Amino acid sequence: MSISKNLQEIKSTLPDNVTLVAVSKTKPNEAILEAYHVGQRIFGENKVQELTDKYETLPKDIEWHMIGHLQSNKVKYIAPFVSLIHGVDSFKLLQEINKRAEQNNRVIDCLLQIHIAEEETKFGFNETEVIDLLNSIEFKALKNITIIGLMGMATFTDNKNQVKKEFTSLKQLFDKLSTFNFQLSTLSMGMSGDYQLAIECGSTMVRVGSSIFGERNYN
Ligand SMILES: *Cc1c(COP(=O)(O)O)cnc(C)c1O
Repeated sequence: MSISKNLQEIKSTLPDNVTLVAVSKTKPNEAILEAYHVGQRIFGENKVQELTDKYETLPKDIEWHMIGHLQSNKVKYIAPFVSLIHGVDSFKLLQEINKRAEQNNRVIDCLLQIHIAEEETKFGFNETEVIDLLNSIEFKALKNITIIGLMGMATFTDNKNQVKKEFTSLKQLFDKLSTFNFQLSTLSMGMSGDYQLAIECGSTMVRVGSSIFGERNYN
């Protein structure tokens, strides 16, 4: 199967309200261009250096999403161009994004990462922390970021019921925040192995890598 075929096949199954982020981490520019040439414009990367290199060498109408864990000291490198940061998991990080966005005369869209998995290692806020954050005066003072939604990663397991339970809990939090007058449009959940289930549970943005580009080789 080719990248363009994989992409078109996945896209044909997505509801209109679901945005596809093509996760191109570890893949070369040629692979990204193959997807680009069949119309894909949104790509996700999880490493700042790789994201910056690809931004500099690929067409400028690509929207780059930072999907991985982001360290505060690296925000400055992506602040000039990044179109959405998925994994915001601390107020400190949000303050840094705001500061760097201001320096670049921009407002940067962000998603708050919510911890929904059983694994300890996955980053993110819990429900109380998010509600406290969104209600805080310090948060309301940040003028150069917009929280447009939430992001979550389910437990890495074959147990569909477990994954479904986690996605559903994230969707419930998303809906709850919307009733509190926080204007959220985007619920980023679902990857190659679970994006159909995520969409059934209310996802509006899926992050799909290996089903488009093939397995990754890390070396
Ligand atoms: C790598 C990655 C993905 C894509 O994973 P696939 O299983 O290859 O689709 C999605 N989200 C995040 C945060 C990732 O790091």
